[in-house]
Amino acid sequence: MHDSTMQKALSFMEIQHNFSLKKYNTFGIEAKAKQFVAIHSVQELKNVLQENKATQKFILGGGSNMLLTKDIDALVIHIDLKGKKIIKENDDFVWVECQAGESWHEFVLWTIDQNFGALENMSLIPGNIGTTPVQNIGAYGTEIKDTFVSCEAMTIASQEMKTFTKEECHFGYRESIFKNEVKNQYIITSVVFKLTKTNHKINTSYGDISVELARKNITNPTLKDVSNAVITIRKSKLPDPKQLGNSGSFFKNPILLKSDFQKIHQQFPEMKYFDISETEVKVPAGWLIEQAGFKGKRFGDAGIHKNQALVLVNYGNATGQEILNVSKDIQQTIFKMFGIHIEAEVNVI
Ligand SMILES: Cc1cc2nc3c(=O)[nH]c(=O)nc-3n(C[C@H](O)[C@H](O)[C@H](O)COP(=O)(O)OP(=O)(O)OC[C@H]3O[C@@H](n4cnc5c(N)ncnc54)[C@H](O)[C@@H]3O)c2cc1C
Repeated sequence: MHDSTMQKALSFMEIQHNFSLKKYNTFGIEAKAKQFVAIHSVQELKNVLQENKATQKFILGGGSNMLLTKDIDALVIHIDLKGKKIIKENDDFVWVECQAGESWHEFVLWTIDQNFGALENMSLIPGNIGTTPVQNIGAYGTEIKDTFVSCEAMTIASQEMKTFTKEECHFGYRESIFKNEVKNQYIITSVVFKLTKTNHKINTSYGDISVELARKNITNPTLKDVSNAVITIRKSKLPDPKQLGNSGSFFKNPILLKSDFQKIHQQFPEMKYFDISETEVKVPAGWLIEQAGFKGKRFGDAGIHKNQALVLVNYGNATGQEILNVSKDIQQTIFKMFGIHIEAEVNVI
């Protein structure tokens, strides 16, 4: 490598100490990383892991799905790998590989510009590509597992690369193998998606998409129309983390066995629910939180959003611990009221 190129690579990989993560988490929580490094290539990642074998590691993408309740006594590795390419195509489908550090929403917009379909309903979800499989992100009737083909990941302990197929990822509702069986063992470096080139399956049945399209007099929507509708709806419902710190839905919608739910429903006949299988129903956690009287409440700088009870917010200087306390208060109240446990979707660190 030429001297100056080598120097550039080294300076890129500089490890910083006592590094503020305030700008690296969408809650806008002030927490410090003992050490911090941004990674721009798979080789850099390998070097950092090899050179810091004995050090505790913490992987950071866009910081939009975590609540930092304390300083991180570890080497924070911020995955900033960039690039995307078509790796295969036929008349009907295209396989696109995207690097982990690319912004998910920018990628979705790019696919729509290429007239590649299937991701449009997941427009405007914050965060990076490499994290999309971790919790099988989803919105408006679509989940990443519907288009996911495989991902490449580096084994933290041995620096070997491993390919995870869709089946191996054990995807579930906001779940995958990366949150469970192999938690903290792999760093995802790229993801392959299979998208449509023709016969796009436009899905406007979920939420208010069809209402928004009708409002614009659109009867035969394109991918771009659906994406724009989703963006408009999301902007009207969810706070922009740049203006009000948050991490999207703080809780998962609880899934109950129909037999258990029927007993609760007899007591609370107005309770909303959706059938998700022969034996299970999903109850909207936002509805439960609203019934418990938390919507719009504020406790110091921590609070519950006024339009969306599922979203906890930081009004400025809340600590992660304060937001966590509010979340626990909500969980306990809901359990007392309805006998239902609601689980955090956000990773509490
Ligand atoms: C306003 C708002 C709206 C949202 N709406 C939705 C929504 O509709 N649907 C939805 O599913 N989510 C939603 N989210 C949550 C969030 O956007 C997604 O979970 C997103 O995929 C998180 O990506 P990230 O890169 O920011 O992850 P981070 O917060 O950086 O990381 C999340 C977890 O993954 C781990 N991780 C990060 N990168 C890697 C990697 N490369 N390899 C292995 N592990 C890694 C981290 O250690 C951490 O445990 C929303 C968030 C916000 C703020």
